[in-house]
Amino acid sequence: MTSLLHVRNLSVSIGATRILRDVSFSVVQGESIAIIGPNGAGKTTLIKTILGLKTEYRGQIELLGLSLSSYSARERARWMAYVPQNHDFADFSTVSEFIWMGRYPYLSVFRQPVDGDHQAVQAALEMTGTLAQANRTLATLSGGEQQKVLIAAALAQQPKMLLLDEPSTFLDPKNQVEVQALLCKINRETGTTLLSITHDINSALQASTRILGLKAGEIVFDGNPQALANEAVLAEIYGAAFRLIDDPKTGCPVVIPTMVASEGRFS
Ligand code: ADP
Ligand code: MG
Repeated sequence: MTSLLHVRNLSVSIGATRILRDVSFSVVQGESIAIIGPNGAGKTTLIKTILGLKTEYRGQIELLGLSLSSYSARERARWMAYVPQNHDFADFSTVSEFIWMGRYPYLSVFRQPVDGDHQAVQAALEMTGTLAQANRTLATLSGGEQQKVLIAAALAQQPKMLLLDEPSTFLDPKNQVEVQALLCKINRETGTTLLSITHDINSALQASTRILGLKAGEIVFDGNPQALANEAVLAEIYGAAFRLIDDPKTGCPVVIPTMVASEGRFS
């Protein structure tokens, strides 16, 4: 198994505030990693720093054994693609034009699109099921369709690793499941490594090979879904109470955040 990313003793400060503290982990090609943790834990800062969007940090970030700083932005974009949390869709590009922007790391005035570029865009449209919307403008899409188009643009980059910031947080339950299923398919069929921030603990338990728990800028959990399915571990990460029950159909553990008894409508 090839090691893709090494993060060693990564610390990030903004002004006098330490946002990440001594974060260390490695990522192997093909892993599907969920990053969980409370709001403000530093999750977004972590993936932005790995992507090279934040250059002020201490510690080491290595991509394929070489320091991140030795790659140009175009080189980084051939290895890593980003699906940000907030994207402004109030522009007039069509879905197809937007996904073509995913080819920018490969194109230049000296390197016009060739068959391989068309194939990458077509494959991204097909994989994400957005082919039918190819000629629509972004602003006319539903939230679920927009999220799939963001993922398609990232796939058109043909990265080794996709970094996603809460890809399903603002979607309805049906679209949440669809986006999660799409990410599983991408990981399984293309071998693309996933590093995905989520608040959906249950989908992290079901779909990830590994989970990183971040709290106040530190990694407080790094393990498999079985190890996370533990009330004390979850309470430590979130500072909140959870109950675990077994899904009677699948036998898999399901996490439920618990309310104080007197606050529950049915208690
Ligand atoms: P998460 O994604 O886990 O919610 P973030 O990485 O967005 O957390 O933020 C971590 C902490 O860093 C938060 O306390 C946030 O307020 C702070 N922070 C993030 N960006 C900035 C910034 N540009 N200036 C000041 N503080 C920031
Ligand atoms: Mg965030």
